[in-house]
Parts: sequence; C-alpha cells; structure tokens
Amino acid sequence: MYDLIIVGGGPAGSSAGRRAGIKGLHTLLIEKEVFPRYKACGGALSERALSYLDFPLPQSVREREIFGVRFRFKDSVIEGFHESRIATMVTRSILDDYLLEKGREAGIEIKVGENVIDCKEQGEFVEIITNKDVYRSKFVIIGEGSQGKMKRKVRSIDTKYEYGVCIVADVEEDIEKIDQVMSNIMEIHFDVLNMGYGWIFPHKNYYSVGIGAFAYKIINPKRIMNEFLKTKGFNGTFRLRGHTIPAGGITRNVVSPRVVLVGDAAGFVDPFAGEGIAYAIRSGQIAVEVIAENIRDTNHGAQLGQYESICQREFADDFKYALLSVKMMHRFPNFFFKILTGNQEVFEKFIQIPNLTRHYRSYLEWLIPRLPQYLFSLFASR
Ligand SMILES: Cc1cc2nc3c(=O)[nH]c(=O)nc-3n(C[C@H](O)[C@H](O)[C@H](O)COP(=O)(O)OP(=O)(O)OC[C@H]3O[C@@H](n4cnc5c(N)ncnc54)[C@H](O)[C@@H]3O)c2cc1C
Repeated sequence: MYDLIIVGGGPAGSSAGRRAGIKGLHTLLIEKEVFPRYKACGGALSERALSYLDFPLPQSVREREIFGVRFRFKDSVIEGFHESRIATMVTRSILDDYLLEKGREAGIEIKVGENVIDCKEQGEFVEIITNKDVYRSKFVIIGEGSQGKMKRKVRSIDTKYEYGVCIVADVEEDIEKIDQVMSNIMEIHFDVLNMGYGWIFPHKNYYSVGIGAFAYKIINPKRIMNEFLKTKGFNGTFRLRGHTIPAGGITRNVVSPRVVLVGDAAGFVDPFAGEGIAYAIRSGQIAVEVIAENIRDTNHGAQLGQYESICQREFADDFKYALLSVKMMHRFPNFFFKILTGNQEVFEKFIQIPNLTRHYRSYLEWLIPRLPQYLFSLFASR
C-alpha cells in the first residue's frame, strides 16, 4: 500500500512527486512514455513557473531568455521590452526529463513505459490498474495532461466551448539568424484566428511556430497553420503536431474523496495566454501538501476540498478574468486589438501580466473605465 500514486510524469506529476518525496510520503509515479519524450508546446516558461521551483533551472535546460513582446494585429505592430525577464525558452522533452529526475532525486519510485488504464476508489484506498500490474494507494493524483481519460472519474469531459486546439511546428534555423531576427522577443499574432492567436517563439536553434484557439471556433486548423507559416516566410515542409489544451476559468470538479486532478487534467491553464506549465507545477505541489495533511490527521477521514480552495485563491480565480478578456477582446477585435497594438500604455500594462506585476483582474479594472476615451480617439483618428 502506497501513501500516494501519481499518474503522469509531466510538470504537474513530477512536481507533485518531488514534493511528496521531500515530505517523506511512500510514493509511486507511473508514466506511460519513456522519457525524454516529445511534448507539443511553445516552450515559454514564465517567471511565475520558475518561481515555483525549489531549485534553479540549469543552463543546459535554458535555451533563451525573453525580455520583449511584439503584438501584431492587421497593420498594427507594437513591441515593448522589460528590464526583467518575461520568459525562459525551453524544449519540453528536456525540461520534463529534468523535472522528473528532480522527483526521483527526492526519493520516490518511478515507473516509465507503463500505462494506467483504470482508477477505482474503494473506500479506504484507491486501486490503480496499469497494462502491467495493479497497485493500491491511500491517495491518487492524476496529472495525465489534457488528453488522458482517467480525469473522467472526477469530472465530466470538456465541451468544445471549454478547451482549445493547437497546432505547432518546430522550424529549424541557424542560431546566428535567430539572434539577428528575434533573439529575445516573442511574437504574438492576434489576427490569425478568432478566439485564439498565432505565435512565433525563438528557441536555441529553432522557432516554435503555432496557432491555437477555442475548439468551437477553429475549422480546418491545418490549413490556417499552413497559411500562417507561409505568410511568415517559413517555406518548406514542416511536421505539424496537434494537441488540445483546456481553458481555465470554467468551473470543474477537481477532487473526489481520494483522487486529486492537477495541471491540465484539472483544467488549470490561463485561457488568454495558454500558459499552463506554471499552474501544473504549483497545483502538483498544493495537492501533495493537502494529501500529506490528510495522511497526518487520520481522525477526520479524507478531506481534499482544501486543495480546490487554495488553487482558486492562488491562481484559478484570475482565470475567470482572463476568460472574460478573451471573450471581450475577440467579440470586438477591431476595437480591442487596435487599442492594444496602438497604445503604448495599454500594451505596457498588459505585458505586466506575464511579468508577474499584474493580474487579469486588475488589468480589466484599469482598462474598462478608460474604454470610452480609447473609443473616441480611435474614431477621431479615422
Ligand atoms: C501547442 C501547445 C503549446 C503550449 N505552449 C505553452 C507555453 O509556451 N508555456 C506554457 O506554460 N504552457 C504551454 N502549453 C500548456 C502546457 O503544455 C500544459 O499546460 C502543461 O504541459 C501541463 O502539464 P501537465 O503535467 O498537466 O500535463 P502534460 O505535460 O501533458 O503531462 C502529462 C503526462 O502524463 C502522461 N500520461 C497521460 N496518460 C497517462 C496514463 N494513462 N498513464 C500514465 N501516464 C500518462 C503523459 O505521457 C504525459 O507525460 C502549451 C500547450 C499546447 C498544447
């Protein structure tokens, strides 16, 4: 009987594993792939994500530091730089492998290449059935990402209004060329598709180029992606990889009596930016803190509700404002994105969000009273 079984070795699972090892919980982590494995991602690690790690990320994992953001909407382009770093670019196969090793280093047992096929709550324990064996544990954390099926034991499946679809390609380029063209700036294109955006992120020797939008708005994503690549001058044949991404800001069950969902499985992704690594790391840690407390205090039975309230307080409440921003901005794109890409103050305040000095809520509270003034100047400039 384990104290804890963790399903999935992505950032959510491995961070939970590391915290469980540090806390001395008898823990087994099961991952279906053999690491390092490919993961479709833009690979932008925010300052928030780095701040959650209890160790420095080594140079071998960091590929590039980002200090600037460039937004494009039709004929408007705006860019801004920060003195402090906005993001660190990583390749997910390398990052995830490193994070999993940090879990192993904390003393947990890890099985890779083993697929969890069922999870059964049995009163005082949970049974985990894999393609190889059956295990028992007092508690289970499910960090299977957005595409696994175990989460359905706790919450209903997302509708097309509750998740996004992304397509990404890694476009190889010489390091010197990337240094010249966009060494430390990331580019976001708001005119590629509705309820989403296109991105170009510089890595060490490739660009991550991608598009993503809410599933109900995206028809023929492959065609949109190919057009985006072509317009940006990326000619050639690239391997396109599709992936789903849950939208945060939507109410979902994330706990059952002995099972906790973390990361993408819980739907913890910023619905505006699509950032999920930070919240995967943090939710994994919070889940273990709450489970460890339950294991210490056996008098009150399993009580995991605290997990939900801590996540809400720390980050998930702000997802509702991020979702509101997406809906508002994409409902009237010619107004909002013109303002965002045509007004330095609106833009500067917006990029304080990834820079950790502002939340979506305070951004909207700042922006909304100023909208009539911006509307007037937009008309006056015509
Ligand atoms: C195209 C794209 C671009 C993105 N870009 C960014 C970005 O630039 N920055 C950012 O912060 N976020 C980004 N995200 C979001 C980010 O990738 C996710 O939020 C993050 O990976 C969530 O981590 P996780 O650990 O919850 O899930 P995952 O990283 O998906 O890990 C889940 C793990 O569980 C394993 N697993 C699944 N099912 C089972 C099973 N049955 N048994 C055992 N193991 C299983 C999988 O193999 C996988 O290793 C992007 C997402 C997409 C789709």
